[in-house]
Amino acid sequence: MNAPAPHISRPIRRLDESAQNRIAAGEVVERPASAVKELVENALDAGARRVRVELAGGGRTLIRVSDDGHGIAREQLALALERHATSKTDGEDLLDIRSFGFRGEALPSIAAVSRLTLTSRAAGADEGWALTCDAGRLGAPRPAARPRGTTVEARDLFHATPARLKFLRTDRAELQAALDAVKRLAMAAPETGIEVLDVSDPGEGRALLRLRPEAGDDTRRARLRALLGKAFEDSALEIAAEREGLRLTGLAALPTYSRGAAVAQFLFVNGRPVRDKLMVGALRAAYSDLLHAGRHAAAALFLDVDPQRVDVNVHPAKTEVRFREPGVARGLIVSALKAALAEAGHRGATTVGDAALAAFRPEGEAPAGLRQGWSGMDRPSLGASARAAAWQAPAPTPAPGFAEDAAGFASARVEAPEPEQEERQADLPLGVARGQLHETYILAQTRTGMVLVDQHAAHERLVYERLKRARDATGVARQALLIPQIVELGAEDAAGVLDAAETLRDLGLVVEPFGPGAVAVRETPALLGDVDGEALLRDVADELADGPAPAGLGARLDAVLSRMACHGSVRAGRRMTGPEMNALLREMEATPFSGQCNHGRPTYVELNLSQIERLFGRR
Ligand code: ADP
Ligand code: MG
Repeated sequence: MNAPAPHISRPIRRLDESAQNRIAAGEVVERPASAVKELVENALDAGARRVRVELAGGGRTLIRVSDDGHGIAREQLALALERHATSKTDGEDLLDIRSFGFRGEALPSIAAVSRLTLTSRAAGADEGWALTCDAGRLGAPRPAARPRGTTVEARDLFHATPARLKFLRTDRAELQAALDAVKRLAMAAPETGIEVLDVSDPGEGRALLRLRPEAGDDTRRARLRALLGKAFEDSALEIAAEREGLRLTGLAALPTYSRGAAVAQFLFVNGRPVRDKLMVGALRAAYSDLLHAGRHAAAALFLDVDPQRVDVNVHPAKTEVRFREPGVARGLIVSALKAALAEAGHRGATTVGDAALAAFRPEGEAPAGLRQGWSGMDRPSLGASARAAAWQAPAPTPAPGFAEDAAGFASARVEAPEPEQEERQADLPLGVARGQLHETYILAQTRTGMVLVDQHAAHERLVYERLKRARDATGVARQALLIPQIVELGAEDAAGVLDAAETLRDLGLVVEPFGPGAVAVRETPALLGDVDGEALLRDVADELADGPAPAGLGARLDAVLSRMACHGSVRAGRRMTGPEMNALLREMEATPFSGQCNHGRPTYVELNLSQIERLFGRR
């Protein structure tokens, strides 16, 4: 640093406006994507129906945003470039903000660090005007032919602040960030058509995004589909909940559609895209039971609240908000998502069934036009039901035991349930067990198709839910081991386990110290049956050693229970009887979240008849 030594006093001076603007610009326009965001926000605030964004060099050499909004009158052009000049608030009530902009900082900030041209033709005016501003120096307005609307062109961003240039990433990364910013705004304004072009190469621009204006009764959903794809929409649950004047709507994907990073989380407060810690945390908490660490939920959530109860004026970029009652907002998000996920507990991502189907299909033939949606809920066509009924009979002869076929696949057949009972079961979502494959999968026939269940994953989920219910009700019942099991854990892990002894007792696991570095397991959760106490304890010790969970003690205990559940579960490779299999199916139907295992993988895959028929080219 070459700052003067602190003891040398220098006079205080007022910075000139250009310096003030460059300092302010640092906060508003951090990188090309933030300038793009501000300019698109301005277009939307102007009521644009069409917005075009052109970028070159990742936005560094050129950003041009054109709209067909209400425009700016000639005599206001210069004012638009002045700091703290805005048409969107009179400054009286900074909480009552209903536009994206209100701080009057974006245009002057961008103008301070680029060569900016503002061209506009106001509604009702018979010509357009252009004004240029180079690194803060304003030119004179000149006439420019154009239809109604505004174009802001910013060239050579940050040429006036070379230090900032050094912090930019590759053109590709900057372009991606800009595109992401536009997509978020596009979700907030579905009725506006938006396109983004990369014009780095002279000549034709390359379209990166092309969204038509959505019309119809659910424009938001249509826009989300256009942006996030049909697979997201098909795996998504509709969220609609209200609490104490806060309203949450949007789409949240099933855990089976989770992603490796938080790239598919889109959060909005009063229509404004935000990156709010509280909301992200609530989203994580809602899925905590269903997603493995490292997986991230996918969702687009819109929180609407009286503007008086949320402050968006926290940061110049306006992507942070402060809620007056953060607890209510968090509670609403967690409970609404949990309720929707519980209700959909039986539904694996429909994409799973389609992916399975795609794997079966001869190469080159895309599974286009596949019937999607929660196929179990689809009412089949009349023809399909009739065929399904025909396929239902005859019931297999009671032939317990196993037949080895030519390929060496051992398959268990299920003893036939009573016909009447079978009829009833066939109407249930998971149907009647028809057999076990590889002692790992249960094959069940439903009214509308077939279901393949991963018996271990499913059972693990059920045991976990049972354990949680027991803990929350009366505490997990314990069962004493005939002979306590002594486990050498090492000093550190042993101390960790013994520190948690009280809590573990509530979870059904009783441990005591047993000499240096060793722990005695005396009792285990009765629900788990006869378990290997040592393996159980080692797993629990591992879980505890991971340190406190980010989401707090509750989540950590859930994680411990989840580990325990794994030990009490029907392992893959165990033969199950017909009644056992059917009992498992029935319990899955009755248990929330049973469509996913504790790690967010599906516990079953369903193929409906129309999918199977397509597979064989029958349709
Ligand atoms: P803010 O959006 O916070 O008001 P800006 O610096 O982004 O501040 O813009 C300043 C003013 O310029 C706006 O209040 C608006 O009146 C006008 N303006 C900017 N962009 C547009 C546009 N695309 N169409 C119409 N008016 C615009
Ligand atoms: Mg603005």
